[in-house]
Amino acid sequence: MNQTGYVGRFAPSPSGPLHMGSLVTALGSFLQAKVNNGKWLLRIDDIDPPRIQAGAIENIQSCLTAHGLIWDGDVFFQSQNAEHYERIISQLNSQKLLYPCECTRGKIKALGEFYKGTCREKTQVKSPYSLRLKNQFEISQIEDRRLGTLQVNSQATQEDFIVRRKDGLYAYHLASVADDIQMGITEIVRGEDLITATACQWALFKTLGRTPPECLHLPLVTFADGRKFSKQNHAPGLDLSKPVKNLTDALAYLNLTVPNSFQSNHQIDEVLSWAIHAWADSPSNIL
Ligand code: GLU
Repeated sequence: MNQTGYVGRFAPSPSGPLHMGSLVTALGSFLQAKVNNGKWLLRIDDIDPPRIQAGAIENIQSCLTAHGLIWDGDVFFQSQNAEHYERIISQLNSQKLLYPCECTRGKIKALGEFYKGTCREKTQVKSPYSLRLKNQFEISQIEDRRLGTLQVNSQATQEDFIVRRKDGLYAYHLASVADDIQMGITEIVRGEDLITATACQWALFKTLGRTPPECLHLPLVTFADGRKFSKQNHAPGLDLSKPVKNLTDALAYLNLTVPNSFQSNHQIDEVLSWAIHAWADSPSNIL
């Protein structure tokens, strides 16, 4: 039942198995959708074929299912949405909001931390080029449901970011915003590591004449030395034989302490329905 019109999503990249950090994001976005009587969609961000790991798409789905995190409707695949991305690129192009850029990473770095619009006025390109957005917006703050008003690095958000890469692949900001619009997402729940990305994406929503959705950034899971859990940092995959323990640990990162009475792995549904109530009611709720 979707009484409220709330639509949330979990959008993992299939670059490796899910780890505790991904479970926290999956669970937080799931709980937020459930508490709002909304839909929870699953999108596979398989836009970057070289980064896709064999078996990861299946692993993500079986891992979510093993934890009782069942998405609504069909799974969305970015790899199947190229026509939609191309339509948005054409729209931006016809508004004269895109330009080709030949700069290498090295050149951009040598000129400073952020891209300074070097190719904006160039009329001809020779080498392979990326397409950049003439960014009209400088987002200096965003409203986060958990963290309140967040100041963001406006130099980063006013950058003319890439929408299509030199290798022809669509860039993350473009694909994510295009999909979030198409999927009717009303709130984006993702990790705190993506706060700057959210602000850049707000600029793209506005460029496309859309009001950005709400957002909620969740705490990150880190190693003892402070490095965030990620596939690149070789965060360990989840032990699927211990779903209740995994859910209990993930809920602890979300500030919810599961009562000791839930110990059996058969109690996944009980843990989740306890968590939905706790997320909605508890004074220790992170929201
Ligand atoms: N697929 C990306 C990730 O797993 C982005 C998720 C998002 O846009 O929220 O980090």
